[in-house]
Amino acid sequence: MSKIYMDHSATTPVDPEVARVMISALTGSFGNPSSIHGYGNEARLAIEKSRKQVAALIGASPEEIVFTSGGTEADNMAIIGAAYAYQNRGRHLITSKIEHHAILDTFKHLERQGFETTYLPVNRLGQVDIETVEQAIRPDTILISIMHANNEIGTVEPVEEIGKLARAKGIVFHTDAVQTVGRIPVDVKLLNVDLLSLSGHKFYGPKGIGALYIRSGIKPAPLLHGGGQERTWRSGTENVPGIVGLGQAAEMALHNMSARSHHLQGLAQMLTSRIFNEIPQAYLTGDPQNRLPGHASFVFLGVEGAAMLIFLDSEGIAVSGGSACTSNSFDPSHVLTALGLTKDAAHSSLRVTLGKDNTYADIERLMSVLPGIIERQRLLWNLM
Ligand code: PLP
Repeated sequence: MSKIYMDHSATTPVDPEVARVMISALTGSFGNPSSIHGYGNEARLAIEKSRKQVAALIGASPEEIVFTSGGTEADNMAIIGAAYAYQNRGRHLITSKIEHHAILDTFKHLERQGFETTYLPVNRLGQVDIETVEQAIRPDTILISIMHANNEIGTVEPVEEIGKLARAKGIVFHTDAVQTVGRIPVDVKLLNVDLLSLSGHKFYGPKGIGALYIRSGIKPAPLLHGGGQERTWRSGTENVPGIVGLGQAAEMALHNMSARSHHLQGLAQMLTSRIFNEIPQAYLTGDPQNRLPGHASFVFLGVEGAAMLIFLDSEGIAVSGGSACTSNSFDPSHVLTALGLTKDAAHSSLRVTLGKDNTYADIERLMSVLPGIIERQRLLWNLM
């Protein structure tokens, strides 16, 4: 049985071209980038090339890119770093209720250190309302962090407007753009952001590598101390193969973005309309318009999400129930409950996130089994 992967918001496979440049960096450019000799220089040049490729993808200058171990570290560095650096101005921080745990748990960490926090609600489509941001701002607010797009429901947030407001009030603005960079156009200047997190494994790059965009003039305190790499923002000998892979993935994402996006939108549209036509009591979660291309998330009332995943997996089809990071937990998703869904509805969710290599035949195959799985589960549920 051939397998079908449809969980690209959790992670993407490494593009063969990305793997090729990484192997060459791993074996060829093995020098320590801080060394003065030729080996060091070769590794240093490879890093700087990648910095330019990543900067080009988000409309930044290369000096504004700091490599990290991924999205989680970039989020921590932005939030803890900004909170520590600007705490003399105030100790109030704002975020939303639907952020990834890399943000929410970092906020909790700062609360334990005496910072005050506000978690903004979202509407039933998962959007943060600009007026609620305005009302939450206090004279001592030093940081606002709102994600660019949500991993579970695909909703794209009005980051540009929030950034404008934050800039006018002199508040540092961070966005977790882990789900958008490499998938939809991201321009740090248009978005009015001061700090932006991205992660390689969401756009066909390797895991364990990401970056934080730090707008020139913004100075979050570093989290890691030591050799002073990355112009002292992030000490530690650089992950050269990871950085090179990230750069290659960034260049390919930029080059292929509109073709990939067009393909993904077509696939998601077909899937959504077939689900609505063939499965009763099926609802799309998130914003039907402002959403990530290829992101299709549903609630199928009266069906346990985990059961759907297991049955689909036994058919060789990989999808997910909520975010990958919370799917081991039996708590209902904090994102779905923030939309106003009941606990039962939140437990009936299924997320299909398509990728560049998925085909219309993959959608056919999913739809040849999903309606039957759901029907059988509902019959069983009614018998219990
Ligand atoms: N933020 C969002 C919105 C994510 O979806 C993820 C990963 O799923 C992360 C942060 C964490 O990124 P990483 O896996 O690179 O640490």
